[in-house]
Amino acid sequence: MMENICSVKEAQKISDKIVQWRRDLHKIPEIGMDLPKTEAYIKRILDQLDVKYKVYSGHSGLTVDFGNGKGKTVVIRADMDALPIVEETGLPYASENQNMHACGHDAHMAILLGTAAVLKIHEQEINGTVRLLFQPGEEFPGGAQVMVQDGVLESPHADYVLALHVSNRNDSYKNGDVAVNWEHTTAADDQLYLTIYGKGGHGSRPDQCIDPVAIATLVINNLQYIISREVSPYKSSVLTIATVKGGNGANNIIPDTAEVIGTVRNLDKETRDFVLKRIEEIVEHTVKAMRGDYSLEFKYPYPAITNNKDVVKEFVDAAEKILGENRCHILQFPELGGEDAGYYFERIPGCYFYLQCPQACPMDGKIYGAHNSKFCLDDSVLYVGTAMFLETTKKLLSF
Ligand SMILES: [Zn+2]
Ligand SMILES: [Zn+2]
Repeated sequence: MMENICSVKEAQKISDKIVQWRRDLHKIPEIGMDLPKTEAYIKRILDQLDVKYKVYSGHSGLTVDFGNGKGKTVVIRADMDALPIVEETGLPYASENQNMHACGHDAHMAILLGTAAVLKIHEQEINGTVRLLFQPGEEFPGGAQVMVQDGVLESPHADYVLALHVSNRNDSYKNGDVAVNWEHTTAADDQLYLTIYGKGGHGSRPDQCIDPVAIATLVINNLQYIISREVSPYKSSVLTIATVKGGNGANNIIPDTAEVIGTVRNLDKETRDFVLKRIEEIVEHTVKAMRGDYSLEFKYPYPAITNNKDVVKEFVDAAEKILGENRCHILQFPELGGEDAGYYFERIPGCYFYLQCPQACPMDGKIYGAHNSKFCLDDSVLYVGTAMFLETTKKLLSF
């Protein structure tokens, strides 16, 4: 087994390397599914570690397998992609291009490389399989679904999945603390794209037109009744219309079409199915009642992440053992954000957790959240992520 791994000690020993890897990756952020520089960097480090990897066609994801292939299989995932944000941190290792690792996926990759480095040393002791999964396209358009189709959860079949995200969610936590939900963790994210077709004409003769802007207002209002009148008050469900487009700035032209774009967030599948069905019905009947036509699409859906209690229990025990008391926080509420790791978690029991590591931006001394051009993170505690992956895996494989 892997009893000989001293998770914290061994992860801490390579902390400088993890920091270096993270900062190197931070300089070369890439977006989407095709991340040639990032992929090349990961391969170079794995080559240095003398670790073999498997590549896939059509994207930059890769996997690394350790173990003897017997017993259980644990999959540990890190996302690889950045955001189209121009960095404004002023850090010496700031992005060298127009993108930015503003969600901390550079840290996630470095943590997983650290995990590879320690597992390599103990390769012969692993009874089971540990598969490290580097996945592109988390922010957009969703690489997890593609890699599931590539078969990363099979041969051998995955028994457990682990993943983390850097976080600055609570001021009272210390850097290097971890936090986790017992069950509901992130929401299903369905992106709504609605186009309403009317009939354009002169603003003074609405009777000769079918006004798509007027129809859009009715649709937007009616949709909110799903949340306020139809979903159980004990369920979390969010419907936000974020963009309404119609007309071109004129005050006397009724346009032909109007566009309505939004997002729908749900924690459980039953509520999600119900809300999506009701959106379709309400759109159809409202638009038809007003003599219009429409096209409605839900794009890039991300399933919710629901943690498995038994796996979380192992994680919490592991945290107490290696980090000490009060360093692992149980979260009361899920995030209604989307995370494409939901594609793994809807198939395989697992634990998705957060690593607390905020850092003030050197430009103004303030802490900024993810997806901000001044987002910074404290990479001196990333080794804790590696240690938690190792220790939790140790426990899961000894079942
Ligand atoms: Zn993000
Ligand atoms: Zn992220």
